[in-house]
Amino acid sequence: MYAIDLSGKKGIVFGVANDRSIAWAIASILGQAGARLALTYQGDRLEERVSRLADSLDGALVLPCDAADDDQIAEVFRRVKETFGEISFLVHSIAFANREDLEGRFSETGREGFRIALEISAYSLLPLVKHAAPLMTGGGSVVAMTFQASQRVYPGYNVMGTAKAALEHAVRQLAAEFGEQDIRLNAISAGPLETLAARGISGFRDMRRMHAEKAALKRNITGDEVAKTALFLCSDLSSGITGSVIPVDAGYHMMAV
Ligand code: NAD
Repeated sequence: MYAIDLSGKKGIVFGVANDRSIAWAIASILGQAGARLALTYQGDRLEERVSRLADSLDGALVLPCDAADDDQIAEVFRRVKETFGEISFLVHSIAFANREDLEGRFSETGREGFRIALEISAYSLLPLVKHAAPLMTGGGSVVAMTFQASQRVYPGYNVMGTAKAALEHAVRQLAAEFGEQDIRLNAISAGPLETLAARGISGFRDMRRMHAEKAALKRNITGDEVAKTALFLCSDLSSGITGSVIPVDAGYHMMAV
């Protein structure tokens, strides 16, 4: 339990697949802080697992949401409005690219693979924020998950680096658009964590080892460290921060060698 109290606050966490998901680490800590949550999952096969995880949270809603499906997105917000009335935070922890586009030559990425990666991993933030804004009547905080491949070339990351660059720009653009409504948007740039999504990146193990060697703290980060930063961003303690990309990477980003 951390000394941030979110009692009475409500919000949605998108992107729980299993107990290793960054979204789950964030949901757990937000729940421990007293927040009431809606969790979304993609596809029927994840429903049971996510529902079981949600059992440990007080009064959580569990809803399907495929980020490619506008009707499902609208339904999530309809149900959340009906049940919670208003919300004060939203966590976007969703990314996807076809496996063949996460290895080999970037120049070989096809139009469809490029479109899918950008649509699911970056564009999806726009409709989620558009729907969330009317429910954030007392202001709000939106947190998205990014990776340093938005700025630097990581072998194997390929089109996901392009998607993360687009996502980070979308965070800034939306932060400017919704600032007047006191809705803040920030991204957390996490160091490599062993999750389902990470398994699809070729050379991920080596990347993790190199991060631990080079990072200022000489280690990898944990999901809990990302979650603690998300908790801060979802709370009033971060009220002056918007449009930022905050590295939670044990200081890897600022090392030259
Ligand atoms: P994860 O596989 O647990 O989470 C990815 C989620 O995206 C899953 O829940 C999956 O169901 C969801 N998703 C994929 N396609 C979707 C769609 N069409 N509609 C709705 N949801 C969809 O892996 P994770 O590592 O926890 O990834 C969460 C976020 O963190 C991603 O944005 C990822 O790029 C980012 N990130 C991960 C790392 C890492 O090393 N694991 C580092 C930095 C950033």
